[in-house]
Amino acid sequence: GRIDGQLLVVDGLEKAFGGNKALNGVNLTARPGEVTALIGPNGSGKTTLMNMIGGFYRSDAGVIALGDGELQTLTSDAVARRGVARTFQTPNIPEDITVLESVQTGRYSTDRVSMVSAILRLPKYRRVVRDDRAEAMRVLDLVGLADQANEKASDLPLGNRRLLELARAVVARPALLLLDEIASGLDEDEILRLAELVRQIRASGGTVVLVEHNFDLVLKLADVIYVLARGEVIAQGPPEEIETNPRVLTEYLGI
Ligand code: ADP
Repeated sequence: GRIDGQLLVVDGLEKAFGGNKALNGVNLTARPGEVTALIGPNGSGKTTLMNMIGGFYRSDAGVIALGDGELQTLTSDAVARRGVARTFQTPNIPEDITVLESVQTGRYSTDRVSMVSAILRLPKYRRVVRDDRAEAMRVLDLVGLADQANEKASDLPLGNRRLLELARAVVARPALLLLDEIASGLDEDEILRLAELVRQIRASGGTVVLVEHNFDLVLKLADVIYVLARGEVIAQGPPEEIETNPRVLTEYLGI
């Protein structure tokens, strides 16, 4: 990597929408096998930053390095092929396939194999799909959706669709997993299952960057927290430092 020991290095990132500077020189690093959280008030630039790492927006200036490569000029598809998976606030799950199928095909979303081929079980993929079943069931079990494996994915209630989207992202074994507000719309029990899944991703060496409003959840899950305000990083550090940082308390928590 460009900076020793880091998987992701964001350096001097800038983005304006019209005259509005959403990101004003943001620097951020994410270490492999760690959970890096982005917090900050509404409009502070968290979603913009996630969109730029995922290749959904073009930057005005700055570098986004993943391992030895740079992402800032790539399309979102090209970023996905480099191993970056992303969840959305509104779960993005194909229609007309079962919960199990949607997890089995989740694996293909970060490489060149088209999901459609996988669903149609072209001979080439038949074996792969069968082998994926056990792992897909294991992940479904982990998020508490094993009993719904054969239900239609789009029929699940929102909380379950969110857990399903996370399960799909996990089986893709991304180098970097971007999670956007995954706890919103979930009840306490679902949040516990989700937290367990994020811990498992981290334990298996996965690297996660997440945006999350639920401060208690962030404190529990994150190794490092970045606090954004008005498009700038105003504080960064481990949860125990951020939790007691006076600037964070006034700017973000309003205490
Ligand atoms: P957060 O995720 O922290 O709530 P955002 O990244 O959504 O913040 O927004 C940061 C700023 O950029 C806000 O002022 C917002 O209005 C603006 N912004 C974000 N996306 C767009 C867009 N697609 N078009 C215009 N302005 C945008």
